[in-house]
Amino acid sequence: MRVRVCINGFGTIGKRIADAISRQPDMEVVGVSKTRPNYEAFVAIRRGFKLYVPKDKILEFENLGIKVAGTIEDMVSSSDVVIDATPAGTGAKYKDLYKSLGKPAIFQGGEKADVADVSFNTLCNYDKALGKRYVRVVSCNTTALLRVIGSLKRYFRIRKIFAVIVRRGADPKEIKRGPINAIVLDPPKVPSHHAIDVKTVLPDLDITTVAVAVPTTLMHTHIVRIEFEEPLSRSDVVRVLEKSPRIILVNSDRYGIRSTAELAEIARDMSRSRYDIPELVIWEDSITVTGSELILVQSVHQESIVIPENVDAVRAITRLTDNPEECMRITDENLGIKRWWI
Ligand code: NAD
Repeated sequence: MRVRVCINGFGTIGKRIADAISRQPDMEVVGVSKTRPNYEAFVAIRRGFKLYVPKDKILEFENLGIKVAGTIEDMVSSSDVVIDATPAGTGAKYKDLYKSLGKPAIFQGGEKADVADVSFNTLCNYDKALGKRYVRVVSCNTTALLRVIGSLKRYFRIRKIFAVIVRRGADPKEIKRGPINAIVLDPPKVPSHHAIDVKTVLPDLDITTVAVAVPTTLMHTHIVRIEFEEPLSRSDVVRVLEKSPRIILVNSDRYGIRSTAELAEIARDMSRSRYDIPELVIWEDSITVTGSELILVQSVHQESIVIPENVDAVRAITRLTDNPEECMRITDENLGIKRWWI
């Protein structure tokens, strides 16, 4: 029997999760929710999802010709698992509802860590989420850092990490965020919340991050320095990263590219849905090893990088499989991860 999943909040992350869940052989989408009858509600219906809304809004939606399948409570009641993709901080307010209806829930990185029993990244702590009631998939930047750390940690002993996060100012659809003409210290103190967030998954890691926000919507970019316990070779690092399930190594020389704009263009040219790049992109030419120190630059498509981990989280909490490798294989096969890359 397939696990019935509903998605509360059909915005940037929720709509991608709904698509990804509907492509998994062991899951089905019960429906998605909206609180405002805007274009995303019309999109949900046209994409074939059942739409659930707050009880007092049903008429408002139906007066615009948007077919409503029921209330958000109805949606949650008919599901085995809720994925909460409401705006940051809103998920916590829904927790009582999920609890009262006896449903396990997956929250997003905009929620505080204490909303859940565990903060989650498949490569780093899949086992900790097995059978849990409440799991939080960490944010896009944290997921990216954990992908590279989790991949390297399997083969090399990490002593210390320092990363500079160059963060996109807004998502493409957002018209009220910025900056549009500044580099903003985000925040003007060290560490930024990213290091703290990484430690919600790997508490013993020695990591510091600094973040700035810049006027772009396409992707974030990180400059990462990792110090290991022993010297290592560049070729070993490249081999490990190449093999890692959700990482693409991009050789600037080979492809003649050196920007997030060109990455997005390739995703468009390859007809990737919404030009999404759920893989972490590591710029191969930037990988530099000196003794026991590694420096690399990586780019992160903030709108889609957390989607595979949300799918994995459903398998972990329902124990569809206890094996993270098998889980990632099923998720990635059905999302076409890495297969599209040129
Ligand atoms: P969004 O604003 O694009 O989408 C939120 C959706 O929830 C919208 O459809 C909105 O109408 C709906 N909504 C608002 N209030 C609601 C309510 N009370 N009940 C039900 N639905 C409601 O936001 P997003 O970017 O998709 O972010 C969702 C979560 O994912 C946040 O925790 C965020 O921090 C996290 N996240 C965002 C990104 C990103 O880059 N956008 C990346 C990783 C994680």
